[in-house]
Amino acid sequence: MLALALAAPLTAQADGFSACIERLRAQAVQRGVSRATFDAHAAQLEPDLSVLGLLDAQPEFSTPIWDYLAALVDDERVADGRAMLERWRDVLQKVEERYSVDPATVVAVWGVESNYGRSLGARPLLASLGTLACMGRRQDYFRGEFLDTLKIIDQGHIPAERLTGSWAGAFGQTQFMPSTFLRLAVDFDGDGRRDLVDSAPDALASTANFLHKGGWKNGESWGFEVKLPAGFDTSLAGRRNRRGMSLWIARGVKLADGGPLPESGPDRALLLPAGAAGPAFLVGRNFNVIYGYNAAESYALAIAHLSDRLRGGGGFHTPWPTDDPGLSRAGRRELQRLLIARGHDIGEADGMIGERTRKAIAKEQTALGRKADGRASQRLLEALRTTTDVSAKEGGATIRD
Ligand code: CA
Repeated sequence: MLALALAAPLTAQADGFSACIERLRAQAVQRGVSRATFDAHAAQLEPDLSVLGLLDAQPEFSTPIWDYLAALVDDERVADGRAMLERWRDVLQKVEERYSVDPATVVAVWGVESNYGRSLGARPLLASLGTLACMGRRQDYFRGEFLDTLKIIDQGHIPAERLTGSWAGAFGQTQFMPSTFLRLAVDFDGDGRRDLVDSAPDALASTANFLHKGGWKNGESWGFEVKLPAGFDTSLAGRRNRRGMSLWIARGVKLADGGPLPESGPDRALLLPAGAAGPAFLVGRNFNVIYGYNAAESYALAIAHLSDRLRGGGGFHTPWPTDDPGLSRAGRRELQRLLIARGHDIGEADGMIGERTRKAIAKEQTALGRKADGRASQRLLEALRTTTDVSAKEGGATIRD
């Protein structure tokens, strides 16, 4: 239906697109972009209309926080992160000397943003941002990002063909937007280019610079898990409601292991990501600095928790309030292999739960007489393990990695 609706005005849209891009030429030149760069990289640009659907997409299924954390902070990412701490130890030490952000925090951001530089996004940045600059409902914002992308290319930091990213224009190992790049990216390997795509030292230092400029207090923990007394007044919760430790002590809050809270220390806010029945955290200023990287509490908690795991810490004391926990990426890949073996066309078993995987899961849930919420969960994985005959396809590419 959508394809038919778009077919007729497509040529008109493309003509309008070229004219729209051409109108940006003066602004680009004003920002210091050379005419040659504009001619080479903007003038002949083709729109990518698929980004418009993503701009307006309402997720069909919601993701509970325990699913989000199960995949972002799994054993694989912890092991990879520890290997990266070792591999980049000298660079990370120099980064900490210059920007006062500790290695585990920097590496945790790297791990969540781009899986340590492995997942940068494949969409050509100029096509995505050019389209969003000329069509859709946030054109003013994306016009600035588009012009900043041209500036990055013009200044020779990153070649245009290496500039790929998310549909919304986050790119590189740090997943910065182009405007963030121009404000905060740094050249740390000393080759004169701020290269967040192909230089890990530049990416690590740029992340540290971002956190440093955001007010990071090195040596102060982001926060810690706590335990609430029965009948606790949860109206005190909220990331913005930072209070002195004496208040939390007076209200009966304890460390997660039941020990007493420290009497001194900076003001902290109570975070209840899954309500009073789930894990509770007292978080301080540094949590807000991480939050500034990508404004979502679940995101900040994933980075904070991963940094603790990289330092040798364990999982949370209080379980999430669910009898059906989320899956690690390894569990997600196994679930996808089972779905493929059961005849679902979901593409590769890559551990990414997209719309096709969710729809296949919903079908299986319906067949099992369960709520069809599309969740990749532990209990669904167990159910499919026991009912899927993989022997017929044993050795086939769809079953084994
Ligand atoms: Ca560099």
